[in-house]
Amino acid sequence: MTVPHHPEAAPQGVEAQYRQALDQGRFLIQHCAGCDRAVFYPRMICPHCGADALAWIEPDGRGTVYATTVVRRKPDAGGDYNVALVDLREGVRLMSRVEGVAPEAVRIGMPVRAQVARQDGHGLVVFVPNKEAQ
Ligand SMILES: [Zn+2]
Repeated sequence: MTVPHHPEAAPQGVEAQYRQALDQGRFLIQHCAGCDRAVFYPRMICPHCGADALAWIEPDGRGTVYATTVVRRKPDAGGDYNVALVDLREGVRLMSRVEGVAPEAVRIGMPVRAQVARQDGHGLVVFVPNKEAQ
């Protein structure tokens, strides 16, 4: 797959780069050289300071559950699953899910760490409890 180089297609380009890295098993966020802050979801312009000096970085991966909920599903549809908002140490928040523990056992403030799972042939960021931090 090639990413078009037309400036007007650039936002899709950033999104495509993010997904491409995930598909290769790498979770990347952006960092702004203008204000030294992390940026997520991927974009062209820093939402904090308006600079366009965003670079890809590999986050530390450790984070904390900010909010959590259980989505109920019938067992034959895959069963209940967790949806969580996670704050990364880098200062960005993302919606994901916590695996490796019962959906209702996820707690606000729980230390977690990111890993890249595969679903339908694509990379996906999920979190697991960070036992070392408990
Ligand atoms: Zn900035």
